[in-house]
Order: sequence, then structure tokens, then C-alpha cells
Amino acid sequence: MLTVDQSIEAFLDAHKDARLESYKELLRIPSISTLPEHRPDIERAAQWIVDELSRIGIEHARTFDTAGGHPLVYGDWLHAEGSPTILVYCHYDVQPVDPIELWETAPFDPFVKDGRMVGRGSADDKGQLHMHLKAAEAMLATRGTLPVNLKFLFEGEEEHSSVGLEDWLRANAELLAADAIVISDTGFFEGNVPALTTSLRGMMYAQIDVSGPPVDLHSGGFGGAVQNPANALARIITELKSASGSVLVPGFYDDVVPPTKEERFEISCLPFDEGDFHRQTGVPELVAGEPGFSLLECMGVRPTLDVNGIWGGFTGEGSKTIIPAHAHAKVSCRLVPDQDGEKIFEQLRDFVAQVAPRGVKVEVQNLGTAKSLRMDANLPVSKAAAKALEATFGKAPVAIRSGGSIPVAAMFDEVLGLPITMLGFTNPDDNAHAPNETMVLLNYETGLRTITRLWDDLGRMSPLEARMGGTTA
Ligand SMILES: [Zn+2]
Repeated sequence: MLTVDQSIEAFLDAHKDARLESYKELLRIPSISTLPEHRPDIERAAQWIVDELSRIGIEHARTFDTAGGHPLVYGDWLHAEGSPTILVYCHYDVQPVDPIELWETAPFDPFVKDGRMVGRGSADDKGQLHMHLKAAEAMLATRGTLPVNLKFLFEGEEEHSSVGLEDWLRANAELLAADAIVISDTGFFEGNVPALTTSLRGMMYAQIDVSGPPVDLHSGGFGGAVQNPANALARIITELKSASGSVLVPGFYDDVVPPTKEERFEISCLPFDEGDFHRQTGVPELVAGEPGFSLLECMGVRPTLDVNGIWGGFTGEGSKTIIPAHAHAKVSCRLVPDQDGEKIFEQLRDFVAQVAPRGVKVEVQNLGTAKSLRMDANLPVSKAAAKALEATFGKAPVAIRSGGSIPVAAMFDEVLGLPITMLGFTNPDDNAHAPNETMVLLNYETGLRTITRLWDDLGRMSPLEARMGGTTA
């Protein structure tokens, strides 16, 4: 069920092949932000987008350097007098391709198979960025004008911790002045059901380093007399969680906002197929992280603590009898409102010091934190987005509480204080960050019509109305 302006529909129809060709062209640029050897590709992708913005009639298209070293792309069109100004965010950098041997085809040689665009970045997030370009192009080409004022901000280091973004946002808050923000970097619910993401979890990432003797010692000569760092680390990790899955760090749950009855009801109504989800994981059995909470609750509205990696001592083939000099673990927590990452780090650090066995030196490093964020589904822009999704996909979107973290959303919230709508279109089986990434072309094609529809709806809103719900506005 497509209900968009007929002239736009005719334009989109007539340009379908060219559009897919252009999509592929962007995907062919291997803009991997974490690998320095791809720096020229990052520049090339940024320039490709600047050229494309200018070509379709977006003004002031240019790049900005950030402290992180990967250019931001900006462009605007500000002639819809009296209409809201929307800041649109996507990112053009992509994840590395490892493990490359699991790709069925070359990751940067995109092609269409079974109704999907296959290739790194097809979904996360070049596909969604491209949808915004093509939506604006169709409107400008057919009408010569846009119903809203648009400011595009396309990041080049989202997959590289957005290292330079926050400082840049603070320094350029005036340039980014808007009434609302639309972020397209999320996706649909299981079963490819249209969705709007209404919360994101935050993050705390730490490393525990346990050291004992200055060098590995012979376990025959010293075993029994000195503390073993690997054993000590295992003991520390055991103390962090109960057998049933609750985190035992004192204070960890103090600031957690419990889900309301309504929220729990909404979550229980989501069309979640547990069997299908189980199959996707490949594990013998699913375990809810905490007693008293459903799987979806554990993944969306409850915090977690996970060991992400553990190493130390002899790990080669065969046997070598040593007491290792040191052992290490990476530990991360997904956080929910109103947990504070810095505070959680301090609680973890103090608890680790308290439970650490005697005879070893233990250090805990903070590798970074990101804030969690809740977005009100009743904001005017979010409601308009829900309406546009329903009108184009024929199905009202479900509200999902994402277990993931998009630090940029919290940065926008803190620096700009504007209402945020997370409008994402990717299919849940898109393999983002994994081999064989895909975007369902029906989501792409319908989604870009959703965007034009949303701009039309927002064009009928006053700037003040679009702004309602911002934290500082
Ligand atoms: Zn992304």
C-alpha cells in the first residue's frame, strides 16, 4: 500500500535502475573507518556523498574535519519557510570484513540476490543514508522544493567509536540548530515487522589486569607457594554474577528505572518467535539473564554484564606447566536508564579490589562508556514517523527497546537537546557487522517512500510542534 505523491512515485519508478546502480556505487567504496589503510576510501566516500548532495540540489554540501580524523559530511536545504527543520543523521563508514572467508562473495562488489542488496554497508548504514539522498532527490526533482528544512549530517567514524563527534557537535551546535532529529541507523523487529526504536542501552567497557610474578614460574617449583593470576582472575569473574544471572556488584541496580506495567505489557505483545530466535543463536538452550524477567526484557530494559574476552598464560597446543605472570579479561556492561557508566565503572573497580585474592596485583581500566537513552514514542515527530511507516508498509510499527547502543543518539540528546526519532528500515537478518550483509530491497524501496511521506507530514507541522519533547528546547 503506497500512498505517496503520484509525481514522486512516477519519478521513483522511472529511476529505479539508476537508483540501484548509484546505491552499488556507494557500496563499492570500502570505507572501513577502523583500519588506517582505508583512510583514502573514507575520503572518497565522503566526497562521493558531497557530490551527490550537490547534484540533487542540497546546498552547502561539504566535509568537516573532526579530531577523530574521519570527515563529517554536511549539507542543508533551508527554504521551507515556517516549516520545521529536521537534522538527519546516518553514517557512511562500515565495519571491517573479517572473517573474510565466510563471505560468499567479495564484500565490496555489491549485487542483488533474492530481492536483497548484498555487500558490506548495504544495511548498516550506507543503505539508509542512500535512501535519504534518494528521497530528497525525488522531491526536489519533481517539485523543485522540499516541505521541510533539512540538515544532513553523515558521520565517517560511527564504527570507530565516534571519537571526534562529541567535540565537533559542541563546537558546531549553531550550524546544527533544528527542531528535531531523525536518526536512520536501526531496523525492523524480528520477522521484518516495521518498528520504531524507543530506547537504546548504554555501555561501560572495562579491562581487568591481574599480575603475579614478573615472569612465568615453574608450577612444580613454585605451585602452592604463589598465587596464580589466572586462578585469581577466574575467582574475581565468578564473584561478578550469581548462578542465576544477576549482577553482584554492589550498587549495580541502584539507578535502574524498572519497566512500568504498561511497558511490560507492550513488550509481551511483541510478535516475538522464541523458537526462531533460538535457532538464530545456535546455542543448545536459551537462558534468560535474570530471574523474573522475560527474554525480551532481559535484552532491552535490563542491564547486563559480560566477559568479552579472557587471556593469559600458556594457550598453545599440548601442555606447559607454568604459573602465568599475568591474566586479563575484557568486561562490558549494557546499561539502561538511569545508570551512569562512570559510576558503574567505579563500582566494578572497587568490588574487584575487594574480592581479589591475596598475592596478586589487580588493576581495572575504564575503556569507555556510553549513555543509554529513552525516546518518547508520543513525540509529534515519532508519531508522524509511525503514521508514515503504517501508510507505506501497510502495518503500524511496533515500539522496540533496542539492546544495542548508539552513542551518537545520547550525544545528540546531551549536546543539542532536541527530540530524537530513530527511524530505521533494515531487516533483522541483515548480518550487519557480520559476513554477507544484506538489505531487503522492499525495505529500501518502501522506506524511501516512507521518508518522503514523513517530510510531507512534518511540513504541515509548526516548528514548535516538531520541537515538543526536547530536553532543553
Ligand atoms: Zn550503524
